[in-house]
Amino acid sequence: MNKTTLVCGAGGFIGSHLVKKLKSEGFWVRGVDLKYPEFNQTAADDFVIGDLRNPNVWEKILDRHFDEVYQLAADMGGAGFVFTGEHDADIMHNSALINLNALHHCTKKGIGKIFYSSSACMYPAYNQESTTSPKLSEDSAYPAAPDSEYGWEKLFSERMYLSFHRNYGLNVRIARFHNIFGPEGTWKGGREKAPAALCRKVAETPNGGEIEIWGDGEQTRSFLFIDECLEGMRRLMDSDFTGPVNIGSEEMVSINQLAKMIMEIAGKNLTIKYIPGPLGVRGRNSDNRLIQEKLGWAPSRPLREGLEKTYKWIEQEVISFKKNL
Ligand code: NAD
Repeated sequence: MNKTTLVCGAGGFIGSHLVKKLKSEGFWVRGVDLKYPEFNQTAADDFVIGDLRNPNVWEKILDRHFDEVYQLAADMGGAGFVFTGEHDADIMHNSALINLNALHHCTKKGIGKIFYSSSACMYPAYNQESTTSPKLSEDSAYPAAPDSEYGWEKLFSERMYLSFHRNYGLNVRIARFHNIFGPEGTWKGGREKAPAALCRKVAETPNGGEIEIWGDGEQTRSFLFIDECLEGMRRLMDSDFTGPVNIGSEEMVSINQLAKMIMEIAGKNLTIKYIPGPLGVRGRNSDNRLIQEKLGWAPSRPLREGLEKTYKWIEQEVISFKKNL
């Protein structure tokens, strides 16, 4: 018998890639989301369109035994969605409801294991004021002071997963993702993240033109290519380590360096105009000591490799979008 998995948020960026990976490993996969994947057919054996805030949907999707559940559904987006303050109530209410339901119903049905995708956004803002030496080791989470309500909800939900583990013996795995990117991710519309937004701007702008960047471009981040994120998720799920553990890249770059790398890949020379915009913390980088210690593995591929694949895909999207206008 094939092992069975449920992927919540299977219509999203990471979820749709995860479904493909699980299928290639021989799992029977049910996906659930408010929508089908935007850029490709789902690879799932069964795909339920449903709202995970609704407990009746959980009754319906858990009508059989699942060896593994991946809970990726969340109301989220990039800085343009998370840091303006305009979506705070929805972000907290919607994602918390999904996680409340997930834990109650998965415990009741006795599923095998559940994976929860937390985020680097739960780390305290006071440790991320430096562009060169931010502190993001797993044990630096407290005293808590995330810089967004999105981060607070992640921290609350992490604690809820750990409570169900402690009190009800639910087998949980918690990862804190750090800026995952790759092909078939949102690249326009306001919810896209920095790598996709910059790839789009570079692809849309003729050589010699100008692109806009929020802030002074000196804020630092690290970006992890989707394939290594999936590898980390699968390794964590197969391990006996509960987490929380960072899944991210340690190759920290400034947004200016990221933009320059994308211009090089595109073979374009563009000038940068700095404009005010939502920024988030000043510096952020993954700390991979714990994942290395617990799983004997950590992401290691260069940023440039993933960016080349992502730029190529976004460039094609931009071309077909223009054609269809
Ligand atoms: P995504 O927005 O592409 O996917 C999330 C999916 O959840 C979407 O398809 C959305 O429709 C679905 N969803 C939202 N509300 C729902 C509801 N009520 N019922 C059913 N489905 C619902 O995001 P992603 O980049 O694939 O991220 C997946 C998970 O990883 C999220 O929990 C996110 O917070 C976390 N994460 C992602 C990153 C990143 O860089 N992508 C970083 C840190 C954490």
